[in-house]
Amino acid sequence: MSKLVVMGECMMELSHIDSHSLAKSFAGDVYNTALYAKRVFQSADVSFLTAVGSDALSDEFIGVLKAEGIGADLVYRDSHRTIGSYLVHVDERGERSFTYWRSDSAAKQTLKLIESDLASRCSDVNYFFYSGISLAILADEDRDKLWLLLETLRSEGVKIVFDPNYRPKLWAQTRDIKAIYERAFSLCDLLLPGIEDFEHLYGSKTADDVMSVLAAFTIPEVILKNGPEKVTCYVAGNDAVDVKITPVKHVVDTTSAGDSFNGAFLASRLQGKDIVSSVGFAASVAGEVIQHKGAIVPTESFVQFLSELRAS
Ligand code: AMP
Repeated sequence: MSKLVVMGECMMELSHIDSHSLAKSFAGDVYNTALYAKRVFQSADVSFLTAVGSDALSDEFIGVLKAEGIGADLVYRDSHRTIGSYLVHVDERGERSFTYWRSDSAAKQTLKLIESDLASRCSDVNYFFYSGISLAILADEDRDKLWLLLETLRSEGVKIVFDPNYRPKLWAQTRDIKAIYERAFSLCDLLLPGIEDFEHLYGSKTADDVMSVLAAFTIPEVILKNGPEKVTCYVAGNDAVDVKITPVKHVVDTTSAGDSFNGAFLASRLQGKDIVSSVGFAASVAGEVIQHKGAIVPTESFVQFLSELRAS
């Protein structure tokens, strides 16, 4: 069985239908990744490790997870908190901005709520995926718990996958952000960064700059994304390989480009495909996602896209 566990936060997204009405959905980087991994590889076992509340909104979210075929066995319940939320504002020029209510979300408590047998329950997982956002929302002591969990999982053969997904605002109260990131790099088997993560953190401008930062860590595989530019694949002991991206002509919304790329890439690797063809497949999926509004492409359109892609 191919197993993927993603860890992090999913929020309720509120967006304007008109000036009086809001539409509600659920979104979050690792949730998006889980959803696309499952959509492209239906027989994979994909589970979400997070915490939600004990209220109707949280029940609804679990219903959505189940409808997408994502396992909810690792969704913990916090009796005092609930799912974080955000409102999307779009200005006259189409620029998006966000108002968040997430500072006391249930997901922040995930590491406090997990049981001591979590690592053994996950010992047959192929990939354990989390992001810089999953890290940013944790309290220091919970981050320490996470490092221990990752070390145990690795010792059991689980591959740890990390997307730095650096969001400066989430780290505003934290000192020594680089040390936290570097701990994550040192515990990582597969890194899925975007070049802008390293631009923010280290001033890196090129793929070579990123790799010189990462030289201090022995990461077996790095897949470096750069929007419509090439994806560069590094496998320890081998020459770097560039995969060309065909830029999308009419980009509608780049939300979830990296997340959908990650989900499709991991699903393709779980199916035994090689790195370069998995990058090509992931890039096609991300290229489709950015031609739709919002993070999640409606199921029917996505199924149609996949069948055309597979037939081509
Ligand atoms: P990013 O997170 O912006 O680096 O994008 C992640 C992935 O989405 C890239 O590696 C590409 O595969 C895809 N992507 C992003 N922007 C574009 C674009 N304008 N045209 C085609 N593919 C894109």
